[in-house]
Amino acid sequence: MKKTNCIVCSKDSPNILLENRKDPFLKNIGLSRVVFVMCSGCGFVYQSPKLESQEISKLYLEDYYDENDKPISNAYALKKEGYAQSSFDQVSTKIDLSSCKNKNILDIGSNTGSFLNLFKSVGWYTVGVEASRKMADEAQNRYSLDEVHQCLFDANFFTDRKFGLVSLLHTLEHIENPSVILENIYNVLDDDGMLYIEVPDVFHPKSCFYISFYSSPHLYVFSHSSLTNLLSNNRFEVVYSGIVPRGLYVLAKKKSTKDLNKYKIDDIEKIRKITLEYKKRHDRHAFIYRFIANSLLSRILIKLHIPVLSKLLFSFRERVRVNRPV
Ligand SMILES: [Zn+2]
Repeated sequence: MKKTNCIVCSKDSPNILLENRKDPFLKNIGLSRVVFVMCSGCGFVYQSPKLESQEISKLYLEDYYDENDKPISNAYALKKEGYAQSSFDQVSTKIDLSSCKNKNILDIGSNTGSFLNLFKSVGWYTVGVEASRKMADEAQNRYSLDEVHQCLFDANFFTDRKFGLVSLLHTLEHIENPSVILENIYNVLDDDGMLYIEVPDVFHPKSCFYISFYSSPHLYVFSHSSLTNLLSNNRFEVVYSGIVPRGLYVLAKKKSTKDLNKYKIDDIEKIRKITLEYKKRHDRHAFIYRFIANSLLSRILIKLHIPVLSKLLFSFRERVRVNRPV
């Protein structure tokens, strides 16, 4: 792990915002504690110390990715279709998709492919890039998209073509070097093209079950201002922005210059207050989950070996077990 400066304003003046001592993802690398800091210069929230590259790739082993042989469930795919529809609605109300000259879309972190499928239905050529073999196969099999590449995004891969729209839905906050990927996107985006980004919102933290919003896969926690600043540093100008069910979104276009050292400062006290309230709420819920998982009834049901139910309960207990206080 290494300490890092703020990637938005470059200052080295972080204050601890939240410490999560029960991060279940870190068990894959023998750790349990993750610390989020807030830059006292601009208010950007990020992990520090930050995990090394090899450690970041191990965070996902247990649940999502290829080491787990379980197929993607229909329920999961349907949930993703719901999220994709709300994102698509945002884009299609801001851009007239039928009149775009370049109807090629590149979705980085394309997951089950549900977002791309909506573009396919209105005549766009759909290209996905997805690190997980399982998700890439799922996207191809479920929606017959034009291209799905199982790899990490690399602009050199697309030197022969440009895209009218590039999208990252809940991907940017997981990427180790956002500026590198934004530069790559700049190179593959048509001059008239648009960049669509969705990320979790620091002003609206939400728990996923008993897993904290402030978990190690989220290397950064953006606000509208910090995302705008980061994009501006990397030659993008935000044209539209707003709130979506899972966080915040921006639609940005290319510009010719970087605006280094010109950044909006977040409401630091408001972020601190919202985060502390969130932590109290989350800790209370996590306590209840632990109580249920360790209850006598739960133990008896597992002992009875009732198919499905005992499997679900056992898996639930395993996840809660790693959330025990250390
Ligand atoms: Zn900063």
